[in-house]
Amino acid sequence: MSPEALAHLGLDDTDSPRGGCTTYLAALLIEYLCKLGVEWVDYPNLIRLNPNAPWKTRGNGAICLRFRCGRELLDEVFARASELVAEEAEIWHENTHPGLVLLEGPVPSLIKLFAKKAIRSLVSLDEALKLCARYGARALGFKLGRGVSGALAAIGELLTGDYTYELLAYRTPERRGLPRAVEASSVVEMDEATRPLTFNNYDPETGRILITPRGPDPVLLGVRGESPDVVLRAFKMLRIREPVERWVIFRTNQGTDAHLVRRLVGELRPHLPAIITGRVERPPKTIPGGHVIFSVSDGSGEIDCAAYEPSGQLRRVALSLWPGDVVEVAGGVREGPDGRLTLNIERLKVIELAPKLLAENPRCPRCGKRMKSMGRGKGFRCPKCGLRDSRAQKTLVEAPRNIRPGLYLPPPRSQRHLTKPLRRYGLEKYGPPGPPKGVWLWPHPLRR
Ligand SMILES: [Zn+2]
Repeated sequence: MSPEALAHLGLDDTDSPRGGCTTYLAALLIEYLCKLGVEWVDYPNLIRLNPNAPWKTRGNGAICLRFRCGRELLDEVFARASELVAEEAEIWHENTHPGLVLLEGPVPSLIKLFAKKAIRSLVSLDEALKLCARYGARALGFKLGRGVSGALAAIGELLTGDYTYELLAYRTPERRGLPRAVEASSVVEMDEATRPLTFNNYDPETGRILITPRGPDPVLLGVRGESPDVVLRAFKMLRIREPVERWVIFRTNQGTDAHLVRRLVGELRPHLPAIITGRVERPPKTIPGGHVIFSVSDGSGEIDCAAYEPSGQLRRVALSLWPGDVVEVAGGVREGPDGRLTLNIERLKVIELAPKLLAENPRCPRCGKRMKSMGRGKGFRCPKCGLRDSRAQKTLVEAPRNIRPGLYLPPPRSQRHLTKPLRRYGLEKYGPPGPPKGVWLWPHPLRR
């Protein structure tokens, strides 16, 4: 009997803005591994890494396939995976640097930590290569080989915290680059029939369909949701007017806020995702382009927070903040040309509203008309009856607040893959679900 090996095959950075998709390459690998007769120990994992990393590919998503097979097959598996990358990855593109890692046995703690760091901060290729060497993982990098980092990070993220699923369906080669023929009304119907268990199907403000990407890549559509059953049920409700080549259900950290960690303002550095809590310092302002900026301080420092147009309700709430308000802001840190840091808002929680006090001129004690200033320190004069009062002062008046404490997110169309949508609050789940059950890919290479 052959020794049974537990294997984790990580894959990253094989696509480019001009085409390809790491998940599609994974789907081809899955087909090959099924034919080889491996025993799957989890759904294929789609791991989104720090969306603010400077060298990210489109979605900054990496893949890990976890399975058991005879140890003597591992060389062949790694060789076939390398061939597939060489054949299918967009290697010609200047920013595509694929990486492939194969780790045998249980995942060591240091690789798990490396994964958390890749999702919440920045990692180097050097760190990844050292870990691969230390734990005897096979690693193969193409060109700069940056994808090795993402591939190892995907291996290290076992999704034992909150997670979701995505069914990704792919197009036949001749359709790639053409508009995707998915009936919009069927997406809205599917959303109504499956909510809250699926999310980000379309943008209610604009009606834009979000399950279909727009690029020339092989992805026809992706349905995101809480369970394999619901994403499959939702997929079957869609009216699709073009052939589907294949589909696969991935388990993923999408929609879980996995990248966000609490930090002090003084600790913020470019490219870090962060959650900060503090007080609004100055009244918000709108800058050219319609973006709203307000600054928040927490005692360790002060940072500008930016709500970008178009972000609908979030932008309106940001514009209504007032000095003294207590807020929790989550997002990615960006460095401006002048070295100044800005936190790009992905989520805004208004915790406490301060009284908004505005200074008003006093009313005339004789006729009630609002008085006018006669100059700094010179008192006020009534424009109606002419009364002068050299000792009158401005009075503080509490203005109504037109916002409420609560949680505000950008509209679905401008949310990150990792951002937890409002619909998911209360639906969080924990712990790996074990081997895939039922139908999780189509066509199954052994059950055609
Ligand atoms: Zn008067």
